[in-house]
Amino acid sequence: MNAITFTDVSKAYGEAPAVDGLNLTMETGRTVALLGPNGAGKSTTINMLLGLVRPGAGRVEIFGRTPDEAVAAGMVGAMLQDGALIPELTVRETVDFVRRLYPAPLPLEDVLEMAGLTGLAGRRAGALSGGQAQRVRFALAVVGAPRLLVLDEPTTAMDVESRRAFWESMRAYAEGGRTVLFATHYLEEADENADRVIVMVRGRVAADGTAAQIRAGA
Ligand code: ADP
Ligand code: ADP
Repeated sequence: MNAITFTDVSKAYGEAPAVDGLNLTMETGRTVALLGPNGAGKSTTINMLLGLVRPGAGRVEIFGRTPDEAVAAGMVGAMLQDGALIPELTVRETVDFVRRLYPAPLPLEDVLEMAGLTGLAGRRAGALSGGQAQRVRFALAVVGAPRLLVLDEPTTAMDVESRRAFWESMRAYAEGGRTVLFATHYLEEADENADRVIVMVRGRVAADGTAAQIRAGA
C-alpha cells in the first residue's frame, strides 16, 4: 500500500495557488524529501497531509485513510516549524506527557536518547536553545512510534553538529519500514538523507527522482 497519495490536490489562500494540481504517491518504507524555495508550497502540502489545512480541491490519503483518520489512529507523527512547547515543563515531562496520549508509544528513555536529550531531560523547555527545542519537537514527533513521520524544515536553528546528529536520529527512526517525508530548502540535506527528492516550485512538482537525477537536471 502507498503511504501517501495526493490526487489532483490544489489549495489557494487568495488568488494565487499555493499548491496547484498536485499528483503524488509515496511508497511505504521510503524517506522522501520535499525540496523547494521559500513559498513553493511545501508547508501547505504538509499541512494538508496532516489535516491542518483542507484542500480546495482533490483528495489526500495516508495508508488509504483520510488525514484525520490516520492522525487520530496515531499513524502519523509531525514536527512542524515553531511548534509550541510549554516553557515551565521539563524536557522529560514534555515528552512523557505526549507519550501518554498514544496507544503504543516507544519507551521514554529510548526517545530521549534517540533525540540527544538525555543530558537535557531535567531542563525546563523555556530554557532551551532553538536547536535544543527542535530536538524536543523531534522527540514529540516520534514518541508515538508513528508509521509515517513528517518533518517541516526540521534543522532550522540547528548548528552543523546538531544537524548531523539530527539526521542520524532520523535515519535510525526510518529503519524497519517506517516512512518519512521531510521538507527542506537545502539540496544537500535532501541528497544525503532521502531515497527520493520531489522538487516543488510555485505549487507544482518541477522534478521527481533520486538526488543524483535532480542534480543532473532530470
Ligand atoms: P513553503 O513551505 O514552500 O515555503 P508555503 O506552503 O508556506 O511554502 O507557501 C506557499 C504560498 O502560499 C506562498 O506564496 C505563501 O505566501 C502562501 N501562504 C502560505 N500560507 C498562507 C496563509 N496561511 N495565508 C495566506 N497565504 C499563505
Ligand atoms: P549535554 O546532554 O551533555 O548537555 P547535549 O544534550 O547538547 O549535551 O548533547 C548530548 C549528545 O546528543 C551529544 O553527543 C550531541 O552530539 C548529541 N546530539 C545533539 N543533537 C542531537 C540530535 N538532534 N539528535 C541526536 N543526538 C544529538
